[in-house]
Amino acid sequence: MKISDITAQAVGKWDYIFHSLGIEVGNGKHCPCPICGGKDRFRFDNQNGRGTYICNQCGSGDGLELIKHYYHCDAKEASIKVAEYLNLPNQSDQIREKTVFKKIDSEQLHNNNIPENHVCKKVEYLLYKTSLGQSEYLTKKGLTFDLPLLDNGRIFAPMLNLHNEYAGAQFIESDGSKHLMKGSNKKGAFILVSSIMSRPAEVCAKLRSHNEIIICEGLATGISIAEFRHRDAIIIAAVDAGNLIHVAKAVRELNPAAKIIIAGDNDIGNDKNTGKEKAIETAQAVNGYYSIPDTDFKADWDDYRQQFGLEKTLASFNANLIKPELQNSDLLINVKVKKELSGMNLSQMASSQRADLLNQYYGNNLAINLRTDEIYHYQDNVWQPISDKVLMRTLADLFTQSGELFNPLRISSAVESLRLSLPIMGIPQKDLICFRNGVYELKSQTFRPHNKQDWLLVSNDIDYYPAKENESFDTHAPNFAKWLKEHQAIKIRLKIS
Ligand SMILES: [Zn+2]
Repeated sequence: MKISDITAQAVGKWDYIFHSLGIEVGNGKHCPCPICGGKDRFRFDNQNGRGTYICNQCGSGDGLELIKHYYHCDAKEASIKVAEYLNLPNQSDQIREKTVFKKIDSEQLHNNNIPENHVCKKVEYLLYKTSLGQSEYLTKKGLTFDLPLLDNGRIFAPMLNLHNEYAGAQFIESDGSKHLMKGSNKKGAFILVSSIMSRPAEVCAKLRSHNEIIICEGLATGISIAEFRHRDAIIIAAVDAGNLIHVAKAVRELNPAAKIIIAGDNDIGNDKNTGKEKAIETAQAVNGYYSIPDTDFKADWDDYRQQFGLEKTLASFNANLIKPELQNSDLLINVKVKKELSGMNLSQMASSQRADLLNQYYGNNLAINLRTDEIYHYQDNVWQPISDKVLMRTLADLFTQSGELFNPLRISSAVESLRLSLPIMGIPQKDLICFRNGVYELKSQTFRPHNKQDWLLVSNDIDYYPAKENESFDTHAPNFAKWLKEHQAIKIRLKIS
């Protein structure tokens, strides 16, 4: 069927066709352009039912022209999409060689629980049109890596999110210029650094179970890291520094046990070293690590590799791997309490108010053990005893800082008040093993984040990693398995006796 025949059949049906393809054209009034955006530069005037439009930015055309621009395709491809909608015979059944993805029909989409999302559909469509190959962009950088390429050689890098969908894509031209596909929802979405294209749901499953996940800004940086660091880590690119934290937090939520490494850029020389700041902030937020090139010039890990070679880059990457101190929420609260102190009069407070202030100073992380009458402080994921002396000194310190004289009686009475008002400690949960990065529940055999209310008193100070495939306590940690069994046996014996 000729293109002109298809467009003849489409007359009067363009608003439905656009709708089915996810192209929003409005109702004939000025609105954002589906191709180039803006606010009101576009108008769907649909002259003679031919699907015509006018955009102040990208010009005018008919329905087929709009589809061409929206899907970055030629007239033939666009007409096939129209023919599909109109149920006309077409040549869309030709099978592409080396196609990255077979087109998936809507039934399959439904079965995979992938929501019907226009951006997602557009990415699927464009991926279908790509073939895997070596790009000029990477050749110039001295990297060899297959990526999905569109006909003109530009890279089409799909972005995924952790809700099992494509959230958008990045186009990378051979000269290195990049832009996001229109409609992309970048926040928390990332590009998987891999030559094997996987569906978003498969990527989520991998991220959920993997021990080590590296997050960098750009795709080339990620490919470079894969090259010099022959380790079994999943590498994902967050596209820019500002998105690192959103991606890392989403990954952390999915996988509480993974070692997360932020491979940041060194943006030295700018007003603000955004790359470094964001990398540290992100590592802190997810209790992970960061590594940044220690150059005195602006560089990412790919620039570093180009200049110093694989071996030296690997050594430097490892040497610069840092785990930042966790942001101490107690310290932040201290600052807040101290600021408020200036306007307070501690001497005139009731002792219960002073007790309250003291508890606030410790981030409301105090509790009382009724059996021993000792006060405990929740710190580093466990409850630790804190002596009356320490508490009294702290309060004396607060008096001094507010510029007031203190009376030892007032201080000890505040600590006594504190004893009466603190929450009572619960019994430590027996079926939990407390690791540095979370707790393992023996009963359900799951790993989860720490919780104050577990009332745990000891932590083993070891990071927990989930078992790899074919790995079990019995085969890989026989002594621990023995201990566990004995532990269970003792419990059973105790129950019987
Ligand atoms: Zn436009």
